[in-house]
Amino acid sequence: MTPHTETAHSTAWSTSLPAPLHPGAPPRSILVVEDERDIAELIALHLSELPAQVTMASDGLSGRDLALQHPWDAIVLDIRLPGLNGLDLCRELRAQLLPVPILMLTARSAELDRVLGLELGADDYLTKPFSVIELQARVKALLRRSAITQAVQNEATAQKPSMFIRGSLKVDRLQRRAWLSGIEVALAPREFDLLWHFVQHPGRVFTRTELLDEVWGYSHDGYDHTVNSHINRLRSKLGDERADAGFIHTVWGVGYRFEAAA
Ligand code: CA
Repeated sequence: MTPHTETAHSTAWSTSLPAPLHPGAPPRSILVVEDERDIAELIALHLSELPAQVTMASDGLSGRDLALQHPWDAIVLDIRLPGLNGLDLCRELRAQLLPVPILMLTARSAELDRVLGLELGADDYLTKPFSVIELQARVKALLRRSAITQAVQNEATAQKPSMFIRGSLKVDRLQRRAWLSGIEVALAPREFDLLWHFVQHPGRVFTRTELLDEVWGYSHDGYDHTVNSHINRLRSKLGDERADAGFIHTVWGVGYRFEAAA
């Protein structure tokens, strides 16, 4: 099948619920890139309840085309796809600095290792088989963050500080960009959120649970590895190579603390 044909399918599969759960809230737009049609339809059915307008793509290339065409509120991305696999697709979207939250679907723990190890810039992941309740919860959290991001970007006349500059580090909240010694640091959306959260509270120690709650929007714990993985990527990008130097410090047995030398 050609990518063109798949794109046509994607449109045909679009689905949404007419009645929003919260009256007045516009449905969010979600792109689901998954080649197994049964799974894709199950995902679409349950995400439409959020409510959301779900568009499906059944291969990596049409998924990429759609991802780049629209400002999606979230993308659910399977790893094993014909045409272009989900790992490469995710990396490509991040290389283009697309700020959309991405939830990766992995079939095996070996794939999960790759998701966590490759610094792809995915915001979250689920291992198949997953429960639809868990899927809804994860996507809801991504959408909440997406809404917050949007609100922040809309704050043209924000009263809150929108810039952090200390030593070699500069972070611009409205542009959602960061620089180290004048060189831009390419950060995935969640990495930026984490960094902005830290720079607002220099010296304060955050537990992983607090970071999950305040940055990811999860109300439950049990995802310490998600925090660790993002912290490690952020540290690597900030050049934090030694435990006693750099910006983000591990507070053993507690969590993390941000320090910026003047
Ligand atoms: Ca697949």
